[in-house]
Amino acid sequence: MVTYSGKAKDVIALNDKEVQINFRDSISAFDGVKKEELAEKGIINCLTSVKLFEILDKYGFKTHFISKISDSKLLCKKVTILPIEVVCRNISAGSFCKRYGFEEGIRFEQPLIEFFVKDDEHHDPLITESVAVQMKFITENEAILMEAITRAVNEVLIKIFDLISLQLVDFKLEFGRTTEGQLLLADEISADTMRLWEKKTGEKKDKDRYRQDLGDVIVHYKDILERLNSIQKLPDYKPLSTVQVIIKLRKSVLDPAGEVTFHSLSRKGFKRIESVRLGKSAEIAFNAVPSSVLQSEIEEISEKILSNPLIEDFELKIRHHSEKSEKEHFQEK
Ligand code: UDP
Repeated sequence: MVTYSGKAKDVIALNDKEVQINFRDSISAFDGVKKEELAEKGIINCLTSVKLFEILDKYGFKTHFISKISDSKLLCKKVTILPIEVVCRNISAGSFCKRYGFEEGIRFEQPLIEFFVKDDEHHDPLITESVAVQMKFITENEAILMEAITRAVNEVLIKIFDLISLQLVDFKLEFGRTTEGQLLLADEISADTMRLWEKKTGEKKDKDRYRQDLGDVIVHYKDILERLNSIQKLPDYKPLSTVQVIIKLRKSVLDPAGEVTFHSLSRKGFKRIESVRLGKSAEIAFNAVPSSVLQSEIEEISEKILSNPLIEDFELKIRHHSEKSEKEHFQEK
């Protein structure tokens, strides 16, 4: 029994923990206004997703993918799909150009991350992180993790596609939440959900071929898959996630050192200070990609080792450092 039928895939619940995802040959664009059936498309997108999920898994990303049932069917972990799509852009294209009137092909110095609401009726509107959290689409923690994971996925995918002479222009990720609250990469990652240009010529290889009636959609989708399958050795990638843990005394606990600082500042003439509470901060760098698992580990470290739970509270600020930004960071110093 089909539990959910989307524009290009059907989802069948198998049990409490697993679903089967069937990739169909349907292709659509412009909120489903333009649609068609393209032979082999289901298989190609399914196999491309398998390949990319397997690659991401090797780099430590947590995904919903379990195994392949057939060339167009996947066994995946059952998750609640979060109603926010995360788009990462390296080069301007698509809705970004339309929204601002910018030309296509502008290379960004740093990848841009955008959140969109999954809502066909309102044409998947752009949403700020704070509105997404305020409206309870996602938690603040999830918003931070989703952005950090997307940035790390971008770094890995840029390297993968560079190896096969393709330029990663942009892509969209969807995330799912397990019953235990773990965040997993979900849905699909294929030529339908990213833009890829031939490195040498700039030729479009992705769904824009369908959107813009460029023809040979399946020829190019297949070529991407074949190139991915030709990769012998995955590129090196050194993940780095840094976390700042801020440890504060609980409000109810007296802070004599803070009091002394307060009085000394008042004596020095800083009259606008109402109170001072001192705390400590730790910055920890992990050689891992961001994930809920990593986050739980950080919470455990913060709770059990860095802070004294009787008198202190902690706050986490998770950041993902790209290899590029790290290099620049050190060069600056
Ligand atoms: N995308 C997607 N599903 C969507 C919207 C976008 O997979 O519902 C992908 C799209 O293929 C592109 C990237 O996300 O690789 C950015 O898309 P954009 O916001 O430019 O929108 P579009 O051009 O699809 O209107």
